[in-house]
Amino acid sequence: GQCVTHCPTGALTVRDDTNKVLRALADPDVTTVVQVAPAVRVAWAESFGLDPKTGSVGRMVAALKRVGFDYVFDTNFAADLTIMEEGSEFLERFTHRGKYRWPMFTSCCPGWVRFLKSQYPEYTDCLSTAKSPQQMFGAVAKSYFAAQKGLDPHKVFVVSIMPCSAKKAESELPTMNDACGDPDVDVVLTTREMDRLFRSDCIVPADLGEEKFDSPLGSGTGAAVIFGATGGVMDAALRSAYFLVTGTNPDADAFSAVRGGKPWREATFTIPGAGEVRVAVVSGLANVRALMDAVDAGSVDYDFVEVMACPGGCAGGGGQPIHCNEELAASRGALLWKMDAKSKIRYSHENPDIQALYRTYLKAPLGEKSHHLLHTDHAAWKTPNAK
Ligand code: SF4
Repeated sequence: GQCVTHCPTGALTVRDDTNKVLRALADPDVTTVVQVAPAVRVAWAESFGLDPKTGSVGRMVAALKRVGFDYVFDTNFAADLTIMEEGSEFLERFTHRGKYRWPMFTSCCPGWVRFLKSQYPEYTDCLSTAKSPQQMFGAVAKSYFAAQKGLDPHKVFVVSIMPCSAKKAESELPTMNDACGDPDVDVVLTTREMDRLFRSDCIVPADLGEEKFDSPLGSGTGAAVIFGATGGVMDAALRSAYFLVTGTNPDADAFSAVRGGKPWREATFTIPGAGEVRVAVVSGLANVRALMDAVDAGSVDYDFVEVMACPGGCAGGGGQPIHCNEELAASRGALLWKMDAKSKIRYSHENPDIQALYRTYLKAPLGEKSHHLLHTDHAAWKTPNAK
């Protein structure tokens, strides 16, 4: 982040992929689809000096429409989908314990996945096979959505707006091209690149009205928006895992012990019918290394662990606006938790567009189509510096 953008000699520059997006926008044969990650919505407006009320999600959507995207969708949709797949995967592992190595780790942070594969490669099998929301979104856009609209998937161009520079490398992995052979995601822009795109188009967000995400990949629940904050993936996964086992919803705040506070947190919850689930949440690579060493030494024993490479999770990601000597991960994260608390729907399994996707296309979590489009083999690519 900071040292790169402020490199005194100019020898280091930040990669900028906005030209690739501009070329696609100018091509009349291409349908452009953009998805926006949860953490972007609570940070993008900082560079325009707007408070969170004026720099709202609706104004961000309006600005993306001005840029010229054909469809403006929400990564939250795919975060709900990730919960359906990853929550089901956790229950499958949990109820067939002997078949798997423990704990199960979340896999949505590419910084963490790469760290694990290079530093603790013997734990690669412990990663959830679920792709990250950004990749699931691309796979669904180039299959289900393209079919719905009668589009040639090779002519659908998927752009992600991410708080994260590691997401660029994730989208370029040889394993992330399942819908039609092309990459699931064509270009990843960071929050800072999106802000530059707005400026270069002379868009003044404060002057715009609010607009809504397009349908059907534009809806997301409270459980999805918290993916952008540390503890959010675990909280969301437990809400749906509880439902999948018991058939009833837990209190949406039943798992609040995994939120905020210390960078390495532990909790134990009981899911009636499944038993005690021991979970941990960790963010920041120094803390992640300490946790991994403890797991390896056998001094801690967990069933499910959420890991984010950036301190505070994606809210503090390396692609977010930079303010000298200010760390905003916690305050941005608090805005995401507020969005969850205010959401009408706070459980991923209750997102009606996700329910329709399963009913009409995927059929069931962990089914054949899901396996092909939404899961990946983390062992199928090599990190250059693996042990
Ligand atoms: Fe990217 Fe950081 Fe979020 Fe990981 S925690 S996905 S590296 S922004």
